[in-house]
Amino acid sequence: MALRISDIPIPGYEKVVMAEDPKAGFKSIIAVHDTTLGPALGGLRMWPYESEILALTDVLRLSRGMTYKSAVARTGLGGGKSIIIGDPKKDRRPEVFRAMGTFVETFGGRYITAEDVGTSVGDMKWIREKTNWVTGRAREEGGSGDPSPFTANGVFLGIKAFVEEELKRKSLQGVKVAVQGAGHVGWFLMGRLKEAGCVVTACDVDRAKADAAAKEFGAAVCDPDAVYGLDVDVFAPCALGAVVNDATLPQFRCRIIAGGSNNQLHEPRHGEELKRRGIAYAPDYVINAGGVINVSFELLPGGYDEAQSTRKVEGIYDTLKQVLRISREQDVTTAEAADRLAEEILSEGRRRREKASKPKKKR
Ligand code: NAD
Repeated sequence: MALRISDIPIPGYEKVVMAEDPKAGFKSIIAVHDTTLGPALGGLRMWPYESEILALTDVLRLSRGMTYKSAVARTGLGGGKSIIIGDPKKDRRPEVFRAMGTFVETFGGRYITAEDVGTSVGDMKWIREKTNWVTGRAREEGGSGDPSPFTANGVFLGIKAFVEEELKRKSLQGVKVAVQGAGHVGWFLMGRLKEAGCVVTACDVDRAKADAAAKEFGAAVCDPDAVYGLDVDVFAPCALGAVVNDATLPQFRCRIIAGGSNNQLHEPRHGEELKRRGIAYAPDYVINAGGVINVSFELLPGGYDEAQSTRKVEGIYDTLKQVLRISREQDVTTAEAADRLAEEILSEGRRRREKASKPKKKR
């Protein structure tokens, strides 16, 4: 059966579309927020949303976030995202992802998908049967593979930039870092921190993972609930979102919050509160952009190039120093400074695009 496709006009968004194929049990929304800087790349999330409105709200928020993240990461990509309304534990059937592939293909390359919460590299294979506009392939297939080491590298360099600027320490030797979450990103991050001579404390709700980190990296282990109040230089959240909230704020004794988690501030006001308390915050979408930077290199005409990707990820260090500069000069939170930087890059892109589209005057 053909997809039933309907446009959802949303001010400020280039294109938002819903597609349904009841026979395949498929319902999805793709949101392209902004393609000023290039095609909109963003993952496909599968989630059992309770209503279409909640699904739409989520995909709009996430796609806008991708525009800002990709702008600051200078990937030459725009922002988009997609969702499938479904339960990833029950509904990950090939026909659902084939329908998704057909849906992605209707965007003709203006939207490029990838795995995200609730979807896997394996699911992308079904999508690829119907469209080429998919990233996040395995290394064996010429893709960029697991993004986590690249994300962790960006986070490590971000910590270094913040320690230099905020603690005025040139070296990470002896710097105390608490890592929340010994998963993919947290694990690779702890490896880099250990090499640099940091004193690491790990925690994970899965105690076995924290214990493994203790064995591998000589990390101390703390209870997940105790991590916010540790007397450390840096708190590196690599597990959950919204970890800076009304309950955690009074507990913090760290000077810097810099980690890989998405959406670390529960609300923007929590960023303001950190600033008031003299805790420097590395904006999440800037410091954790290593993964999206790495995946963007799959789109190179010559195919994925690890060396080029690594160099670009290293740029996160300078970008975060720039964010700190803007925050100081304009007396705004670092989160606001990152948004301002993204908006400046987008405005520059719009000016370039307008100039290029103007007919040249004849001499
Ligand atoms: P992961 O699932 O591999 O690891 C997360 C770890 O956190 C797990 O080990 C889990 O047990 C632990 N955890 C969950 N709740 C916890 C809690 N309350 N306290 C302590 N530990 C807890 O995920 P990941 O790929 O390492 O990603 C971590 C975070 O970074 C996520 O927020 C993700 O969205 C974000 N992120 C990841 C990447 C990437 O490349 N993997 C890129 C950008 C952003």
